[in-house]
Amino acid sequence: MLSNFPNSLDDASRDHLRADCDNCFGLCCVALRFLASDGFPTDKEAGQPCVNLQNDFRCGVHESLRTRGLKGCSTFDCFGAGQKVSQVSFSGHDWQQTPDSGKPMFEVFHILMQLQELLWYLTEALTLPQAGLIHGPLRSMLEKTERLTTLSPESLMELDVAEHRASVNTLLLKTSELVRSEARKTQQVRSGPRTRTRLERQIALGRGADLMGADLRRTDLTGASLRGAYLIAADLRGTDLRGTDCIGADFRDADVRGADLSQSLFLTQTQLNAAKGDALTKLPPWLNRPAHWS
Ligand code: SF4
Repeated sequence: MLSNFPNSLDDASRDHLRADCDNCFGLCCVALRFLASDGFPTDKEAGQPCVNLQNDFRCGVHESLRTRGLKGCSTFDCFGAGQKVSQVSFSGHDWQQTPDSGKPMFEVFHILMQLQELLWYLTEALTLPQAGLIHGPLRSMLEKTERLTTLSPESLMELDVAEHRASVNTLLLKTSELVRSEARKTQQVRSGPRTRTRLERQIALGRGADLMGADLRRTDLTGASLRGAYLIAADLRGTDLRGTDCIGADFRDADVRGADLSQSLFLTQTQLNAAKGDALTKLPPWLNRPAHWS
């Protein structure tokens, strides 16, 4: 399976799923509630502009986010929701000029972020030959999700996002099973049959594993499900995460130096930005090596 993994991807198909701050009205810096303890400048409520947001919707401390310890800001990615809400849903009318639009715009931003994130995963699933059996339903779901993102603000606010997420998740889970089972078969051919360790069996149980601070350097994670796992400050140096489902895993300060993430499933730029890697960390071609990695 691993040899069939695409080396390159139609990167242009993901351009609209990346943040384009030049075409956004600073929405993440206003619409979201955040806490200083999560690496943001202050505690603030949703809908309240950050103290560093300028009138031109630019961040006044953008160049020094890392040195100021603002990890929450420097890791965040909206999957392209910011520019879509600003330019499509609200046709380029910003919340400063049209104050009445602020509340609905911020609400729609929350909804679009979820839809855009789903588009990111569906786009990836459609590149995977291992999931070829379900490419038809995946493509239909991608098209449906794309259509939802262009609904009017009023319709978006009435949308049952949770229900749509659940439908998408069914397909993403199936994709994960197909990819991981191939990865495990390949791994067995490579290293022969072996009995899983206790930790590997625990991880195999599925999502939400508590692996905070765990030393995973000798754990076989190929083809494992790390869906929603807490990997905060985990030691993943030199690990092989090919064919490993990483959707929703918390990589804050996880040490991925020298790790092979090149064929990890459902990895995002936010996860990479939050982790600690280096020049030896292998990445999928559609993700960028964070500037702060040594
Ligand atoms: S510090 Fe800058 S990037 Fe962070 S929330 Fe404030 S304006 Fe946005």
